[in-house]
Amino acid sequence: MSALFLEGNPIREQIYGELGQQIAALARDGIRPGLAAVLVGEDPASKIYVASKIAACEKLGIASFHLAPPAEITTAELLEQVAALNRRNDVDGILIQLPLPRQVDARRVLEAVDPAKDVDGFHPLNVGKLVAGRASLVACTPSGVMELLRRNGIAIEGANAVVLGRSDIVGKPMALLLMHANATVTVCHSRTLHLPQVVRGADIVVAALGRPALVTPEFIRPGATVVDVGINRITDAALAENLFADFPARLAAFRKRGSAVVGDVHPSVANVAGAITPVPGGVGPLTIAMLMSNTVRAARLRRGRSPEPVQP
Ligand code: NDP
Repeated sequence: MSALFLEGNPIREQIYGELGQQIAALARDGIRPGLAAVLVGEDPASKIYVASKIAACEKLGIASFHLAPPAEITTAELLEQVAALNRRNDVDGILIQLPLPRQVDARRVLEAVDPAKDVDGFHPLNVGKLVAGRASLVACTPSGVMELLRRNGIAIEGANAVVLGRSDIVGKPMALLLMHANATVTVCHSRTLHLPQVVRGADIVVAALGRPALVTPEFIRPGATVVDVGINRITDAALAENLFADFPARLAAFRKRGSAVVGDVHPSVANVAGAITPVPGGVGPLTIAMLMSNTVRAARLRRGRSPEPVQP
């Protein structure tokens, strides 16, 4: 048996199509959603992430503002920049690219973002609203996973869902979204006992561990849906040989480049699962799509409109 691959790119394009219509409707009322991205310092990976977020804004006609303070910035200086963005009416969303340099108090900076502009959904007020079942702006990656499940017709209500990982940005909001969608949710972490056994009870598994290929076929009940959030770069040739034993094209690509991006789920899980997200190309594309969606949503909400456009 081979699983159905739940590809992120077609769903991202669907979402972009819908956002395009919403953005055009806002434009008719003279409103252009705007996203400010704050990239502190010169971290190469962060630069790539911010560049792809800005490219998505450009593709959709969302205004983007790129702030690039130096790596030596102090907490107080960064707080001033955030306060200035909070005051600007042309900025609907503020994104502080993580990680921040060590001397900056990241928590204080993230909590200084106006909750109405918190398009990453990290502010405690937005987390609290999610807990209370009155979600407004929700973390992008778990929101993207929900879109991926729903738009592929995966039944969530009544399903046993196991979330692997309990981070503030993925695991916890993921568990809450699944619970609010009426799944029965178990959250696992590094102290969970009998992990494979617990995961085998799941109809839906969401892996967000940051541990390359930790989830092997023994974890998975045949036919389960497996969502792999993990993004891990591997350079170990022996590991690559093991992971890509049944995937000659990926092994060849690894040999050529000396590295590959893999998820938290072993590729051979595709032989057991009913449906699985590929890495790359599964959840990843939806994270930026949901950032765009949150920016448009923030633009609507800040102007007292309904969170979603009224359906004709
Ligand atoms: P964190 O490191 O913040 O959290 C990892 C979680 O996994 C923790 O709760 C930890 O448990 C748990 N964990 C780690 N090792 C084990 C283990 N051996 N057994 C059981 N649980 C374990 O990671 P994030 O949530 O930020 O990210 C997770 C992954 O998702 C990463 O690979 C990251 O790159 C990726 N990611 C992908 C995104 C995308 O757009 N696709 C966006 C964001 C993240 P404990 O709490 O006990 O320490």
